[in-house]
This record gives sequence, C-alpha cells and structure tokens, in this order.
Amino acid sequence: MGMVLAKKRQSTVFQTKKPAIDVQVFKFGGAAVKDPAAIRNVATILKNYASESLLIVVSAMGKTTNALEKIVAAHAQQNGEAPLLLEALKTAHYQAMGELFPADHEVFDQVNDTFVEIEWVLDEEPHDNYDYMYDQIVSVGELVSSKIVGAYLTQEGLPTQWLDARDVVQTNELYREAWVNWPETEARFQKNAAPMLEKPGFVITQGFIGSTIENFTTTLGRDGSDYSAAIFSFCGKAQGMTIWKDAPGVFSADPRFFPGAALLEKMSYEEAIAMTYYGAKIIHLKTVGPLQDRNIPLRVKSFLEPSGEGTLISAENPDTYPALVAVEANQALLKISNLDYSFVNEQHLELVFKTISDLRMQLTFLQNTPMHFLISVFDQENKVNQFVEQVQSTLKVEVATGLELLNVRHADAAMIAELCKNRSIYAELSAGATTQLLTKLEL
Ligand code: ASP
Ligand code: MG
Repeated sequence: MGMVLAKKRQSTVFQTKKPAIDVQVFKFGGAAVKDPAAIRNVATILKNYASESLLIVVSAMGKTTNALEKIVAAHAQQNGEAPLLLEALKTAHYQAMGELFPADHEVFDQVNDTFVEIEWVLDEEPHDNYDYMYDQIVSVGELVSSKIVGAYLTQEGLPTQWLDARDVVQTNELYREAWVNWPETEARFQKNAAPMLEKPGFVITQGFIGSTIENFTTTLGRDGSDYSAAIFSFCGKAQGMTIWKDAPGVFSADPRFFPGAALLEKMSYEEAIAMTYYGAKIIHLKTVGPLQDRNIPLRVKSFLEPSGEGTLISAENPDTYPALVAVEANQALLKISNLDYSFVNEQHLELVFKTISDLRMQLTFLQNTPMHFLISVFDQENKVNQFVEQVQSTLKVEVATGLELLNVRHADAAMIAELCKNRSIYAELSAGATTQLLTKLEL
C-alpha cells in the first residue's frame, strides 16, 4: 500500500513539473550587426518575437574578425602596429555605440573592459602558440558585439540577458578549430543557459567561441557562429533555428557567378550537408549535423526582407532539386605516384595523410587510380611546397595550381558540359548525385 502511495506522489510531482520551454535560436552574422542601422533593423525584427523564448547568437560586427586577425599578426611580428590597429577598431565600435546609446550608458564601460583584455595580451611578448594567442584576441569581437546588441535590445524594450558562450561551449585545445565536447556542453547548457531561458525576455550570446576545461578561450573556425547556433539549438532541444543573412535564402549556385541560380524553398538535411561539404558557402560546414540529430528545422532567411520565407532545411526531402553548383577557387592538384613506378600503397597513403594533417592542409578532392593518387587542396601559404619537400624522398608529386573545383549535384551530362565549356578539366570524379571537376578557366 505504502509503495503505491509513494509512487502516486512521485507522479504528481512529475505532472506539476514545468513543461520544457520552447526555445528558438536565432543567429545574426557580422553583416546583420555591422553598424547602428543594421543593429536597429535587428531590433525591429525581434519586436515581432517579443513573447518568445529566444536565444540569440551574434557574430562580431561587420569585418571585425578580419581586423582582429591583423592585430594578432602585427603582435606576432612585433612591428609596432598592433596598438594602432586596436585603437582604430575601438574607435569604430565607440562611434557606433555613440549613435545607439546615451553617453552615460553602462555598455561603454563593459565594452572598454572587454577590449582591455586585448591590451593585456599586447603588453606581453607574443605567445609561442600563435593559434592560442589568436583565440584570446579574436574572440573579443563576439564578446563586444553581443554586449552592444544585448544592451540595445534591452534599451528598446526587449529585455535581454547576456550569456557568456564560454560558460556553455566546452571544447578541446585545438585553438582556432576547436572541437566541441558534447556531453560537457549539454551539461553546462542545462546549468548555465536553461535557467536564463526560463526567465522572461531574450538571451543573447556569442557565436564562434568556446572554452577549454581550463577556461582558456577557443574559437571554432572562421564563420563558426552558425555552428555555435546549432550547438545551442541541440543543447536546448530548440523548436527551430533561424540564420538571418543578407541573402533571401539558399541558392542553387552563387548568383554572382551563375545568373540562372534559383532560390531553394526547401532542402533536406542530407542535401544541405552535402552542399556545404562540397564547398557551398551558405552555412558553416558543421552546422547541419547536430540539427539533423535532434530533428530541429533550420530556416535561412534575409534580415533585409524578413517577411520572405527563405529556405527551410528539415527532414523532408523535396521530390527534385535543381542542379546545385559550388565553386572552390585557389585549388592545387597534387598527382602523387611512387618513385619506383609501382603502385601507391598503404604506407605511402599513410605518409600522404599524415603530412596533410601535420600541415593542416584542407583537402577538397581525393581519387585513387592505378598509377596515381590525386588530391586537391586549398593552395594556402607555402603548404604545397612544404608537402612536396616532406614526401619527395618517397613519392613523386606533380603539382598544378590556379585551379577551380566545381562541385556539382543533380546535374546531367549536358549541364556539366555547359558548365565546363570554357574550362580544361584536370580531374573528374562522380559518385551518387555528385560530380567533382578540377578545372582551369581557359583565357
Ligand atoms: N566572426 C567570426 C568570423 O568572421 C565568426 C562568424 O562570423 O561566424 O569568422
Ligand atoms: Mg559570418
């Protein structure tokens, strides 16, 4: 009898427990918060969502991340320019704030205190680990923009709490490209973000940044704010996530180069993952996976035309897709063969991949043929030459540079021929719906 009663009491407790809140995650990139007019526009959009439980993820304002990267480089070179570059960046931020806030607003001190963290780094000798130093400096862009946007929303009658993303997103120590520790991040979300979301009003946080277990700041890779929004969506089991961009949605190809490009109304998670994997610059590569895992729909839409529907990325698979094209410029093709004319074997491949990984080269194409192993990579810094130097005692490498990789999906032979009409083809590979073509534009 006692047992039954105990059970009943438990279930009553369960029933009266507050239902989980319906969180929505919105991400605004650098262009959406680039200046006072843009920030005002964000506030106007958000007034339509005043009653919702919104978690807002913002990037650094405009081109701030590029400016911060220059400060890191200048500090590393000790060329004396870092403090000047920092002054210019601070001035730009204070000017924008001057247009948004009265002069005695507390946000000025908050932003100043955040920039001081860069001054501390600049006062020291450059750190041996460039990537570590980079993350400590570059993360300030998001910290500052989130403070400014949050304070502005609050001022406009949309009370907004500020959440430090580093109290949620826990990563490993791979600075500049840190990997998320998912179980720990989910636990920290429950502890630090969920209670804020339960209160009325919005919560604003930073994209792009995280923290190691020892509380050192990390970043998730350039354009990582989309991914951050997906991390928060995953942890909060969000009802939906929206990326607000300066484009009406996802296009079948970059409309700047392909005038016939069409806006896609819908696409499946798989298609979005494939498109980003094959180089479409629509959203950060790692964004869709966590959303798919929890079946969270993603909308990509325009902050310039917020009434437009944009593109919905979900589990639903449309019947057909137009041909999708993504172009990756600045590719080097490496044609690798064995010095003694035998086949490229497993040991050779181990050397190839280890060298690629050590040099942190970005692989975009991979094909094995009987006599050659073909790869293409982004032709960055001096990495291709370093690669050749490191393998040349074992392998022969022929290099072609200045190539463009066309990644095409859902295209028939006629479309591909049309795409390649002014190009020479260096390598080609088809698998499933995808064709990859390494090409050079003929002059
Ligand atoms: N601010 C970072 C960048 O410019 C992250 C982002 O915008 O997504 O790469
Ligand atoms: Mg961005």
